[in-house]
Amino acid sequence: MSSVDRRSFLVSVAAGMGAAALSVRGETAASFPGGAAGDLAEPAFRPLRLGEIRPAGWLARQLRIQADGLSGHLDEFWPDVGQSQWFGGTAEGWERAPYWLDGAIPLAWLLDDGPLKRRISGYLDFIVTHQRPDGWFSPYPENASTKRYDMWAILLADKVLAQYHDATGDARVLDALVKSLRAMSLGLERTPLYDWGKFRWYEGLVSIFHAYEHTREPWLLDLARTLRTQGTDFESLFAGDDITIPTPRRGLWKWTKHVVNTAMATKAPALSWRLDPREAHAASAARMFEILDRWHGQVTGMFSGDECLAGRNPVQGTELCAVVELMYSLEHLFSVFGDPRFADRLERVAFNALPAAIAPDMWSHQYDQQVNQPQCTINPDHGWSTNGPESNLFGLEPNYGCCTSNMHQGWPKFVSHLWMKTPDEGIAAASYAPCAIATRLHDAPVSIAVDTDYPFREAVRITVTPSRSMRFPLVLRVPAWADGATVRIGSEAPQGMRAGALHRLERTWNGPTVLSLRFPMRPAISVRYNDAVAVERGPLVYSLRIGEQWTRVNADKPHRELPHGDFEVRPATPWNYGLVVNSRDPGASLRFEERPVGERPFSPDGAGVVATARGRRISRWTIVNGWAGELSPADVAQADPNAVQWDQPVETIALIPYGCTNIRITEFPKVREGAD
Ligand SMILES: [Zn+2]
Repeated sequence: MSSVDRRSFLVSVAAGMGAAALSVRGETAASFPGGAAGDLAEPAFRPLRLGEIRPAGWLARQLRIQADGLSGHLDEFWPDVGQSQWFGGTAEGWERAPYWLDGAIPLAWLLDDGPLKRRISGYLDFIVTHQRPDGWFSPYPENASTKRYDMWAILLADKVLAQYHDATGDARVLDALVKSLRAMSLGLERTPLYDWGKFRWYEGLVSIFHAYEHTREPWLLDLARTLRTQGTDFESLFAGDDITIPTPRRGLWKWTKHVVNTAMATKAPALSWRLDPREAHAASAARMFEILDRWHGQVTGMFSGDECLAGRNPVQGTELCAVVELMYSLEHLFSVFGDPRFADRLERVAFNALPAAIAPDMWSHQYDQQVNQPQCTINPDHGWSTNGPESNLFGLEPNYGCCTSNMHQGWPKFVSHLWMKTPDEGIAAASYAPCAIATRLHDAPVSIAVDTDYPFREAVRITVTPSRSMRFPLVLRVPAWADGATVRIGSEAPQGMRAGALHRLERTWNGPTVLSLRFPMRPAISVRYNDAVAVERGPLVYSLRIGEQWTRVNADKPHRELPHGDFEVRPATPWNYGLVVNSRDPGASLRFEERPVGERPFSPDGAGVVATARGRRISRWTIVNGWAGELSPADVAQADPNAVQWDQPVETIALIPYGCTNIRITEFPKVREGAD
């Protein structure tokens, strides 16, 4: 982001947003309605309670697929969750069951899935009723007072309790959370944070703020400050070489370069700002993304990490845990700072990186996804920084089981953060995926229906229905790519909306009012690693559609009975294309055609948009060590005496949204039309 962009953004927001704009500018808490010195600063927008937003259209289908897949069944066959020590079993007793609950709770409550809700309530009952009198949960070692114990799993479990309390209002769960936080407060006096807890301290602030806002106990904010003091200062860490230097292949695993820690930590400035509302936190959040994009950025809005930060090369992987954690961080960042760029990035990750790493039926997933990924095989010759040979398989627990337990939060938390409340009794759209909202403004019911196939379409229809006539602001995020965006209220003339800003409609809403939004999606070409080009349109990135051959592997390993098996995927059609495209006029050689959004929206056959492009195969571009080989710019340059791009004819090729692919090429060498 240039300083000019940032300045114009701040001006536009300040002009349109009233009190909420102040959060973007980092004013003191006293500037906010409801905020007070020494208290928690009020965020720009507050998430609605879990269940006030329900998925609709393709998003409802996606959540149903998820509940019918691994997410809704993991506890039934995977010992690390089903027989977890958290639930009285003898299997893993650390992060896996809390991770699963962290996604399964919002999934079950958003779908109102009775059987899943009942099982989850049973697990929560066990955790709460087996909490020890000293506040520690049952997996905590009995001799913990004399032994070091990494606080990470407790930070995570407390976040789960906060979410369950939000969903159910169960007062026992809030009490259990407060007791746990009290025990942590005493525990940190004895043993300061170290290892995972030290690098993930800010996760604790989520549950502490929840408990504080329900109890107003001042010691809770002291605990938050203790965590911040004892934890890693990521805002300073980003000023050093640890973040910028890519981890060498087969390199050294480091806490400071760990991709999941990094993705989680991007929300640390937002959480810190609520304790200490200084402009520096807002600035450092933006700076963290500038640094990550510059050194490790991927076209999906993610950064590489396999599983340590690994540079911009599109064959380096990104761990699935980092994808879902970055989404959660971006939801916090938009909520606290009200900066639409965070919601732009949230959509980019949600619609591209999230579905790409999970099979269309959501029974198998990858540990590491690659932006250029023509095949996924067990690969001893891999070039990951620190991961193993199975990291890009689609499977039950490829490489390691953290993503198996943690992937579930991605879609459900996205749904519950689609819209948020403004500080002045209004409502704001973070993203335009289809949903239905039932909430209260000015203490009266208001419903909002969002009918759309966005991001596969440009049009969004929003119907606002208050239960009585009332005046409130409705804030629309206008994506930065959407030049020429318009909104039409009922039969009024359409009004323009500025791209990259928040568009505020303040009016008296009376009966059902239909807003017709249009976000023009134009093809764009971005230049990336090794001067390769990527095709983008609206929030979607487009990849070469490659025929797939799936082969089952590891069938003899435990718990791999279908449908939760492991698979290799190989290309059944050519993949080694360069793209013939005019970067200044990409529309001249790219044609986008709308298709019905499939029953499985993120599958090759279900793609809601298909593009045709022109490409030329590059014979020299082959699989090397199991991955797409690397082509230097010289390899594809016009002057190359080997003329690699001229030995094949120009063909019409099909591109589909990145999130619909399982294997893909996304960053294409750019080749010319002819030898002239
Ligand atoms: Zn993981």
